[in-house]
Amino acid sequence: MWFRKGLRIHDNPALEYASKGAKFVYPVFVVDPHYMEPDPTAFSPGSSRAGLNRIRFLLESLVDLDLSLKKLGSRLLVFKGEPSEILIRCLQEWDVNKLCFEYDTDPYYQALDMKVKDYASTAGIEVFSPVSHTLFNPADIIQKNGGKPPLTYQSFLKLAGQPSWASSPLPVSLSSLPPVGDVGNFEISEVPTVEELGYKGYGQEELSPFRGGESEALKKLRESINDKEWVANFEKPKGDPSAYLTPATTVLSPYLKFGCLSSRYFYQCLTDVYNNVKKHTAPPVSLVGQLLWRDFFYTVAFGTPNFDRMKGNRICKQIPWSNDDELLAAWREARTGYPWIDAIMVQLRKWGWMHHLARHCVACFLTRGDMFVHWEKGRDVFDRLLIDSDWAINNGNWLWLSCSSFFYQYNRIYSPVSFGKKYDPNGNYIRHFLPVLKDMPKEYIYEPWTAPLTIQTRAKCIIGRDYPAPVVSHDSASKECKRKLGEAYALNQKLNGQVSEDGLKNLRRKFEGEENQESGRRQKQKTLTGWLKDH
Ligand code: FAD
Repeated sequence: MWFRKGLRIHDNPALEYASKGAKFVYPVFVVDPHYMEPDPTAFSPGSSRAGLNRIRFLLESLVDLDLSLKKLGSRLLVFKGEPSEILIRCLQEWDVNKLCFEYDTDPYYQALDMKVKDYASTAGIEVFSPVSHTLFNPADIIQKNGGKPPLTYQSFLKLAGQPSWASSPLPVSLSSLPPVGDVGNFEISEVPTVEELGYKGYGQEELSPFRGGESEALKKLRESINDKEWVANFEKPKGDPSAYLTPATTVLSPYLKFGCLSSRYFYQCLTDVYNNVKKHTAPPVSLVGQLLWRDFFYTVAFGTPNFDRMKGNRICKQIPWSNDDELLAAWREARTGYPWIDAIMVQLRKWGWMHHLARHCVACFLTRGDMFVHWEKGRDVFDRLLIDSDWAINNGNWLWLSCSSFFYQYNRIYSPVSFGKKYDPNGNYIRHFLPVLKDMPKEYIYEPWTAPLTIQTRAKCIIGRDYPAPVVSHDSASKECKRKLGEAYALNQKLNGQVSEDGLKNLRRKFEGEENQESGRRQKQKTLTGWLKDH
């Protein structure tokens, strides 16, 4: 039994099949050094692929899984190395006749699994790889749609219908497991700690408040579904993105990401609640609706070549985004000068989780709202820092938020000032994640650069010294972004989406030329104003 995601006992068809009638079961997890070991060149603590928070979350999930397996008479066998090499060695050395693992649609696993499956088939080993990470099998939906993924949520819902397993109870517990067989000459370790992986000296400050593991996932699930009224009335996008002490949504995403929680079990628990209340919300806004969004993105991602890129991605608008690394760094490092945006980016770095609308705001700000930076760059930052980072969902939402796919109303931009203020006029969220602004009066907390110097001095926060001035002016930057997107959309329409490299380059050059002219004009204006003042 090869664990990768699906780090759970409940509703785990691969584990169930592996143990049925078996004399021995070898539950294996391979620690891939690329994913786990420190990369000192990365922009934040962590490996080349994941931030430290997500690595820690994964290790906690493995410890929990190991404990559960031990209670059932088994244990987790932890290896370190390139996963396909280790797996093939295991298959060679042990007397294995069945290899079981959850099917994974991510390109990384598709390539990895191909290697392992090829070996297994030449060695005459049966492979059982069921789809249990999602509600539906993305391949089935694509097939029902004539070989293409549905591109709207509504068409997805129509094709998907009710899941086949919806009304029969899922197996949620096991009474025992077959013991682990002889492991031969293998060196097997316990789940490593972050320190053992080479991370030293990272204190509490970098710690996400969310602990990994199936036990924690089930506890959190219970807490959510016990409040039947809350579940029945759940309506996204309502809900306060600034609520950090008690988040407005379930925070089950990291558990779904690693499969500590089965999305199917979650779905069944929700339908149980719905069956016991008079009235409840429905997709797309309900909680079941959220799970269906997850499946929607999995399906489109699975059926769309180059889903994680602009180039060669047939559902992605071709837009000449800028490659301004200074703006990107200001965004990533929470130095945009807009406290609402910066506080969200601090929450991302420290917690690895933010509310959905908070993600909307920062993704819009980086791309089509203010900075016009490529969505792939923002996606990479999220991919590293989120504890729930998920290939299909993250790319899908960045395509959405940058108006590159799914959603095209580029004139609707989140204000980095008034949006957060609606929910949290006092700025408590900002004060928590940006303590440098904790004494700023509420009148100025969303726009501290407008505070008179006396107020800044009293608040012990001088703009430009203790906290940055805005790196862009929202009013003019958002206008510019809309204009550029308008031109890019027109080009896409004219060429029916077939925009060439040269076409994009020309448009980018045009935008840059206009920007240079504009900044030259502003410079001249400044010089003239200065001269007039001096004379
Ligand atoms: P709840 O509202 O309680 O929803 C329950 C579950 O439904 C979530 O755990 C999640 O699995 C699913 N879900 C909710 N919203 C969405 C959505 N918009 N799309 C797909 N599935 C959804 N979510 C991730 O899990 N991983 C990511 O890498 C990720 N990247 C994102 C990037 C951007 C730019 C944006 C705007 C959103 C992203 N999301 C991502 C979607 C969403 O923000 C999170 O799933 C949600 O905030 C997680 O919190 P929750 O578990 O409390 O959600």
